Amino acid sequence: MKKITRKNFFKGLALGTISLPFAIRGCGSDNFAQNKSSTSGILNSKKYQWKCVTTWPPNFPVLGEGAILFSKWVKEMSGGRMEIKVFGGGELVPSLEAFDAVQSGAADMAHGCAYYWAGKSKAAQFFATVPFGMNAQQMNAWIINGGGLELWEELYANFGLIPMPGGNTGVQMGGWFNREINSLADFKGLKMRMPGLGGKVLERAGGAPVLLAGGEIYTGLERGIIDATEWIGPFHDSSMGFHEIAKYYYSPGWHEPGTMLEFFFNKERFEELPEDLQAIMRTAAMRVNHWMLLEFEQKNAEYLSKLTELGVDIRYFPQEVLAELKLYTETIIEELTTEDPFTKKVYDSYLAFRKKASAWSELTEKVFYNSLQNS
Ligand code: CA
Repeated sequence: MKKITRKNFFKGLALGTISLPFAIRGCGSDNFAQNKSSTSGILNSKKYQWKCVTTWPPNFPVLGEGAILFSKWVKEMSGGRMEIKVFGGGELVPSLEAFDAVQSGAADMAHGCAYYWAGKSKAAQFFATVPFGMNAQQMNAWIINGGGLELWEELYANFGLIPMPGGNTGVQMGGWFNREINSLADFKGLKMRMPGLGGKVLERAGGAPVLLAGGEIYTGLERGIIDATEWIGPFHDSSMGFHEIAKYYYSPGWHEPGTMLEFFFNKERFEELPEDLQAIMRTAAMRVNHWMLLEFEQKNAEYLSKLTELGVDIRYFPQEVLAELKLYTETIIEELTTEDPFTKKVYDSYLAFRKKASAWSELTEKVFYNSLQNS
């Protein structure tokens, strides 16, 4: 049989000498037959009941819904063979114990965000987001097609886990402030709820990052315990009522430019599943990954319009402030990557991808958005 190369494949399609079904079957007919037989018969009737813990409060909109949809779609696709009970943070284990719970097997899987596990490995946060890092589109491209997932799998394998991308918030907002930010000096002494690396950057800029759980932020801001807070974007922020107690809503969320969420699985349990159920889990995770970004896009657009109608004072961080915060970020990342070779390996991959992706978006998306502004 004539070997199908990329060139003669397309030529053959155009000439009608290769039919598409033949070409597709030709690529993997043996695998297809094997999978079919290994998952038929008695294995197909075995039912699985799994527990999924999450780092979100119970029934948390969009983020928590992602895990619930995953469970629903897996059940549908498996014809009811795989049932997954989803637990909000604190229902089975506290939110930030999800990693340990799946590692120990107390839960089978989790939905969360890799920057929560920076204490396990500093490399973890590069699979979520870093200040002034990649946006959602670039993160997805790096993770799914650009070598990121292989590194992520290598890291989590050390803990007996398998990670998969599980959604993205898109670019977040910069947060709610009761103080104007006109220069870097305005960060001096600013008490702001700002977790993670963003908090460290704020600290270098003279601010005071404060750790507050979601439920404590409103009162903290109202009573002046904090001067500012970041959260997510218009949809979640308006449900928190921050517009009632803060003067300014700042853009952009330089600290979270495209936060990727994650699913992770107890590796041993995942690998024990029949191949078709493993494929169903991967497909459902990918569907959630896609769904969530679109849900954020739709909800944030809708609620930005509501906040604008309410007369919320939307401001932009001055360019020179962002430039200085970016310099602090680079120093901090430099420090943390020199401490650990694997973190450096991940960051090098991240940075190499970002450099090319930035050049591409500078040439296309940036020019395109600028053209819209001028019209
Ligand atoms: Ca946030």
